[in-house]
Amino acid sequence: MSEAPARSRLIVLAGPTAVGKGTVAACVRDQHPDIWISVSVTTRPARPGEIDGVHYHFISDEEFDRLVAEDGLLEWAVVHSAARYGTPRAPVEEHLAAGRPALLEIDLQGARQVRKTMPEALMCFLAPPSFEELERRLVGRGTEGPEERERRLRTARTELAAESEFDVTIVNTDVQTACDELVDLFRSGTSRVSS
Ligand code: 5GP
Repeated sequence: MSEAPARSRLIVLAGPTAVGKGTVAACVRDQHPDIWISVSVTTRPARPGEIDGVHYHFISDEEFDRLVAEDGLLEWAVVHSAARYGTPRAPVEEHLAAGRPALLEIDLQGARQVRKTMPEALMCFLAPPSFEELERRLVGRGTEGPEERERRLRTARTELAAESEFDVTIVNTDVQTACDELVDLFRSGTSRVSS
């Protein structure tokens, strides 16, 4: 008798800068309230429209240091040489213990840490349709100056090369389709598949 494949309970969504991880995660948040999305802590200030406790927990450097010292973070990283971001450990463990599907939307450095500490997690890489499209999105976003943009594009090239470290790739050509594909990974009962 063949065993049913283990369901993917924890999915880590990572990918290069400006690929649209946040937009895809927001789509999941709006349409699939049954999927719990981890709220990260960050030391960067809130942007207009961002709500403390919803988009991030905005905390001080001292609070971040304390969380690290207490081993309260599942992973953490300095992103874009600017601020620290981390995933609070307890809520992830609690939701998984309660059998709720959980999604982490984090950067590559964080994804690598989770792969080591929680090997049961399904690692999902969100890829742009092409490098040119990624460049277009980064320019279109208009949140960075030319120098910062160049720096992020250099980083993006390295980040794209990390795709082979992941279990599955979703190409973000269209947000709704990418969102549906991601949700399917929870529902399909597939764990640690290769694309
Ligand atoms: P932003 O400042 O634009 O919201 O996010 C910048 C980057 O930080 C994004 O690539 C996002 O995926 C990443 N990020 C957000 N939360 C976390 C986290 O908890 N851990 C890690 N390692 N990266 C995160």
